[in-house]
Amino acid sequence: MRGESNRPRARPPLRDLACSANASPAITGRRVTAAALALLGLALLACAEEPDTAPTPGAIPSGSSAKPEIVAMLRAADDAPYHAADAGGRAWLERDEDQLPYSVVSTPDRFRIVFEVGPLGIATGGGIYLQVSPFWDWSTPQTEVSDALGYTQILVDDPSIEFRAATLDQQLLGIEVTGRALVAGERLEILYGAGPAGAMTDRYAERDSPFWVAVDGDGDGVRRVLVDSPTIDVRPGPARTLLFQVPSVARPGDAVRLTLAFVDARRNTAIDFEGEVRFPDAPTGIELPEVLRFEAADRGTRSIEVRVHEAGVYRLVAQSGDLRVDANPLLVSAEGPRVLWGDLHGHTNLSDGTGVPEDYFRYARDVSGLDVVALTDHDHWGMLPLAQHEDLWEEIETQTRRFHEPGRFVTLLGYEWTSWIYGHRHVLYFEDQGRVYDSVEERYETPQSLWKALADAGEPALTFAHHSGGGPIATDWEIPPDPRFEPLVEIVSIHGSSEAYGAPGAIYDPVPGHFVRDALDRGYRLGFLGSGDRHDGHPGAYQRDPPEGGLAAILAETLSREAVLEALRERRVYATNGARILLRTALAGHPMGSEIPVNETGTLSGSLYLSVIAPAPLESVELVRSGRVVDGVDLEGRMEVTLMREVEGLEAGEYLYLRVLQRDGGAAWSSPFFVTE
Ligand SMILES: [Zn+2]
Ligand SMILES: [Zn+2]
Repeated sequence: MRGESNRPRARPPLRDLACSANASPAITGRRVTAAALALLGLALLACAEEPDTAPTPGAIPSGSSAKPEIVAMLRAADDAPYHAADAGGRAWLERDEDQLPYSVVSTPDRFRIVFEVGPLGIATGGGIYLQVSPFWDWSTPQTEVSDALGYTQILVDDPSIEFRAATLDQQLLGIEVTGRALVAGERLEILYGAGPAGAMTDRYAERDSPFWVAVDGDGDGVRRVLVDSPTIDVRPGPARTLLFQVPSVARPGDAVRLTLAFVDARRNTAIDFEGEVRFPDAPTGIELPEVLRFEAADRGTRSIEVRVHEAGVYRLVAQSGDLRVDANPLLVSAEGPRVLWGDLHGHTNLSDGTGVPEDYFRYARDVSGLDVVALTDHDHWGMLPLAQHEDLWEEIETQTRRFHEPGRFVTLLGYEWTSWIYGHRHVLYFEDQGRVYDSVEERYETPQSLWKALADAGEPALTFAHHSGGGPIATDWEIPPDPRFEPLVEIVSIHGSSEAYGAPGAIYDPVPGHFVRDALDRGYRLGFLGSGDRHDGHPGAYQRDPPEGGLAAILAETLSREAVLEALRERRVYATNGARILLRTALAGHPMGSEIPVNETGTLSGSLYLSVIAPAPLESVELVRSGRVVDGVDLEGRMEVTLMREVEGLEAGEYLYLRVLQRDGGAAWSSPFFVTE
């Protein structure tokens, strides 16, 4: 897997529209942005609507990566003069007799999309558009090279229909009506993958992968997407490996849940797997079964509860045939906090990700063995913006409610307030309902207006700045996080680490001054968590080599929304890039995230305690004090470490946190201790 990346990444468009040059390089040059813009289907619209000069970014601090031109484009799309004939007609997928009703990941296939003209027809100069998902690896439909991937034929019954088809942008094919107008009921077929090479499918399995069809009925250059565009299920490849997750902390006598999942080479759930798992070298003190059978009905995943009796560190092994995998370490102890593993940030095809919400929650629970998960699709970033499609938000609410099972699996309702000016923040709710405050709407366009709206609503909610150091957009730290809603920051995700400029695993497109450490240096009291921000339908997944991911380790005794909210508000949480590292620390007896007052002498001194139990050999631990690494210990490949350090002379306003690195790139960051008056 070396060198692969699951980051949303754009490929250059095959052929730019003449007007694409108007778009800022910030749009065309960036990974997430360009891919997602293609998904928005905005290129043609930009042609028609984009002002000659982008709006002047008023109070945007220098060095920011604010992209006001994207906001302008989204607003122009909302204000576009849609004609009644736009989005007229219907489209569906027909499979030929030699084809299965579904497709398979990363395989060439052929897709026959039938389009039928709607009652208002399509004027000369109007057109039909096929937008294939820009995620992940779908071939760009093209009409020029018949033996290359993505070759697409347009078939019509009536030879008097004239058209011109061309690739317009990433994964976007336009079919312009050049002769007579098309009338209601006329059909044409878009045969995508018509050549011998076919069209390559997504590398991530998903149900209902959409082929978006859009129509410009009156020929003014403004098109609109068919809400009922055709979809296909993309199934996983064969089982390649086994994932084995256990809790990180349990008490003697507890029933402990083991989560085992067979996945394909891309970590898609291997739903066809049948076979057996055994637990070789089983330690005494835990009641493991002799054998665990996977039947077809298990669809590749099983979870069982086993009783654990004796205190200690357990490193369980599962074996299936030649495949032998380790679970993350389990500490059985009556002492110390429990860890709930959470991924509180991710996307599905309701914005710019892969898969459907139901499968997202299922993966989090049954494959990643998470305790807590949130789905946070974008407010206004996708073919059908969440903020404008109440039914999509209701689907998220429904699935969030459906999977919520206190004591077993906690789901949180959320969405991403996707500001292209101040930086992205995802919003989490802790009850069954919540609202989408749309960052593109002027009344909710600033973080302050978002926090005010949340305060006025009166329901518990939290917001999380993420990829603050760069990536798609950096966070504007000129605006202080509202402590009522923002006690934490997402320090790491699939985009990389936003800890500090130049720190290990740092985010792409870094913007100095916008990292988490810069925010702490401003005096903001932010605890740390990680979350995936994955767009592949795999919440909680962790790729090594290079390491990619993000998890929140939430220190709470009970698995409920209330306990999670309390822990997050008190910053009893730490971040990892996906590795399930058990990290415990205390300063002068206070837990991580604490505000600790100085003593009568005006300073704080005390013992810093650290204990780490890691799933892989450890490289080092470093101590960061008020912006600088002040201490480091080479851990020489050990997997369990306990350390004590005396820390002296801390003054009010200082902060202190720990960074732990594994040799394989796995990493964890404790929430800081904050020294106060
Ligand atoms: Zn974001
Ligand atoms: Zn996101």
